[in-house]
Amino acid sequence: MALLLDGKALAQQIQSARVEHIQTWTRRVGRPPGLAVIMVGDNPASAAYVRNKERACDRMGIASLGRHFPTDTAQEALSQEILALNQNPAVDGILVQLPLPKHLDATSLLALIEPAKDADGLHAVNLGRLVRGEPGLRSCTPAGIMRLMAAHDLPISGKRAVVLGRSILVGKPIGLMLLAANATVTFAHSKTEDLSELTRSADILIAAVGIPKMIGLEMVKPGATVIDVGINRVTDPTTDKSRLVGDVDFAAVEPIASAITPVPGGIGPMTVTMLLENTIESYCNRMKITP
Ligand code: NDP
Repeated sequence: MALLLDGKALAQQIQSARVEHIQTWTRRVGRPPGLAVIMVGDNPASAAYVRNKERACDRMGIASLGRHFPTDTAQEALSQEILALNQNPAVDGILVQLPLPKHLDATSLLALIEPAKDADGLHAVNLGRLVRGEPGLRSCTPAGIMRLMAAHDLPISGKRAVVLGRSILVGKPIGLMLLAANATVTFAHSKTEDLSELTRSADILIAAVGIPKMIGLEMVKPGATVIDVGINRVTDPTTDKSRLVGDVDFAAVEPIASAITPVPGGIGPMTVTMLLENTIESYCNRMKITP
């Protein structure tokens, strides 16, 4: 039986531990930390993610200052909104909920966010700081993975890590964070040859692909730490009901792994929590508070 890396429980613990601090800071500074989430259109998955983030803000005493724009909003209007949020003293973190409708250029919008308010840690300046090993706001999903592993004292230094996926959102930054923690890191992607042979060599296997249950028993080294980032909605043909599954076949892999994340309840809640932690970090930096 593998150790279950319960991201939901750890996320709640981290969030609860912050509530009192936030109340104290709010009294001292005269305002709470503020997070502005910009959502465009009505993609149901994005709307659910935004609702989750707003609820978590409410629980912690962080002000949600987001705005919801109609699908046909012009690039210029969103650019102006981001520039205004950059100047707004009540806003510490800005997040553009992705994906955006096709007519919008997400890259140039993200580039407009003031790096000190880049709650998602995806701005080129913050990614550059990660590459250089300098302090900065870190991308939320990889930061959540590192925090979950640290909470369980899972060994990283000297271990062989294989990262499946090379996106800017997850694959590349988690590879860099594991490297910074002295793992020996290999990236795999859709063109990787002999994938199973590679993944079977991993002491730490990170799956961030987006293919339901792609990682089966034959792809995992016994005793490995398996981190499943994938969130895939599948429909059960017998019940016609939809549910979320990861990139890892949990039932097959769990018996041989030493530690494994569930989906849901693993990396998802940690990602939201790291977004709030980034907002708090930015607030503390801007208000000159020692967190
Ligand atoms: P992307 O689609 O941007 O990247 C997927 C990566 O998987 C690409 O690098 C791609 O390779 C690689 N890939 C695709 N097919 C294969 C294959 N057959 N073998 C090996 N590699 C393959 O996805 P994201 O990184 O944005 O997200 C990945 C998953 O994580 C998704 O399920 C997403 O929903 C989930 N996610 C979960 C989060 C959470 O909070 N838990 C947060 C963010 C994402 P190539 O580069 O060659 O195309």
